[in-house]
Amino acid sequence: MGEQTGHTDELRQRVERHIEAIGEFTSTPGQGTTRLTYSEQDLQARQYIKRTMTEYGLQVREDGFGNIFGRLEGTIEGAPGVLIGSHFDSVPNGGSYDGPAGVVAGLEVARLFRENGLTPKYPLEAVAMTEEEGGRFIGGLLGSRAMLGVISREEFAQTTDKDGITTVEAMRAIGLDPSLPGKREKESIKAFLELHIEQGPILEEEGIPIGIVQAIVGLTQIQVTVRGSAGHAGTTPMERRADALVAASKIVAQLPELAKEQGNGTVATVGRLNVLPNGANVIPDRVVFTADLRAGREEDVLGILDKAETLARSAAGEGIEVEIERQLYIKPKRMSGHVRELLEKSSGALGIEYRPLNSGAGHDAMIFSDFTEVGMLFIPSRGGLSHCPEEWSDPADIARAVDIFYEAAKKLTEAE
Ligand SMILES: [Zn+2]
Repeated sequence: MGEQTGHTDELRQRVERHIEAIGEFTSTPGQGTTRLTYSEQDLQARQYIKRTMTEYGLQVREDGFGNIFGRLEGTIEGAPGVLIGSHFDSVPNGGSYDGPAGVVAGLEVARLFRENGLTPKYPLEAVAMTEEEGGRFIGGLLGSRAMLGVISREEFAQTTDKDGITTVEAMRAIGLDPSLPGKREKESIKAFLELHIEQGPILEEEGIPIGIVQAIVGLTQIQVTVRGSAGHAGTTPMERRADALVAASKIVAQLPELAKEQGNGTVATVGRLNVLPNGANVIPDRVVFTADLRAGREEDVLGILDKAETLARSAAGEGIEVEIERQLYIKPKRMSGHVRELLEKSSGALGIEYRPLNSGAGHDAMIFSDFTEVGMLFIPSRGGLSHCPEEWSDPADIARAVDIFYEAAKKLTEAE
């Protein structure tokens, strides 16, 4: 009898059961998954995850932020762990796969280690991260940022929800202990592997079950203010106008072309636009809009930024003034080349088709990438949908990701 790997019908069924079970812990039954951090549903999901970890023979631990770890001890004393997992909170009225797909993958990789009697040299840890979405506490990625020391314990403790309840109060309310150890030193982590749903249409459209993430895109946002002069819509002749909205429209309409010209998956979005004074019979004298610009390589983020600013400035003249304010700049996070190669080799050896992909959304892996080697897999999202009740991914694809992570984790927990 050979070693048991995943990709079996049994593994697919296990995955499906876990996803369904965790999806039941929602405060909006029939209207998608709503599992806000430190809520009653968080507690129920937490208990389910901990119970499964115990069942799978892992040592269960929660930290002072509410992150959950199920550890399979390694033979090298004090060696850093290979972490596999994702988050288990949801947005309001979201789906059952964003987060839990990755949590379940971590659990099942650890189970395969146990089932096949593997004793790793480096510890293996299935992880379930808290408050990634920012659904309750502002900011998002709170569990990973607190755990890795990006924010201090004090900052964490002072973070409040919209009702003014602090994290610490909310934790105590469901019986969690915020005084437990929280911060993990960088030296205690060897690698972090995360499976996530794609939340976009590419894998489904191409019929490819696995995406190997190259980078989590960097992003920048600029706010553009276009000033003209107000006037009566009936009495001001066309040639006398300085219409701020007409000028702004030219910028907005050309931006997609610039993103395509930049290439390499660069995207540009104007998602917010305010027209002033916003009267049906008044020529707009001011338009304020944001342009959100994203790319997987820093040179492309800077490239589209430069193009967008040049375009915006070119709208000035003939009574129109343009002002640009840079509001946000986040560098792209490259995934570890070494881990990416391991994931590619494992996929190849298993005969699983894959393609490289960038992540257009932020994930816990983004925070980990500043501290340790990070690898990330995507699976197709039906219709490209996420953060809605219709969100769905195929449990067979999660099982494929478990296979790939299992092979990669064997190497990562062995090698120096
Ligand atoms: Zn997510």
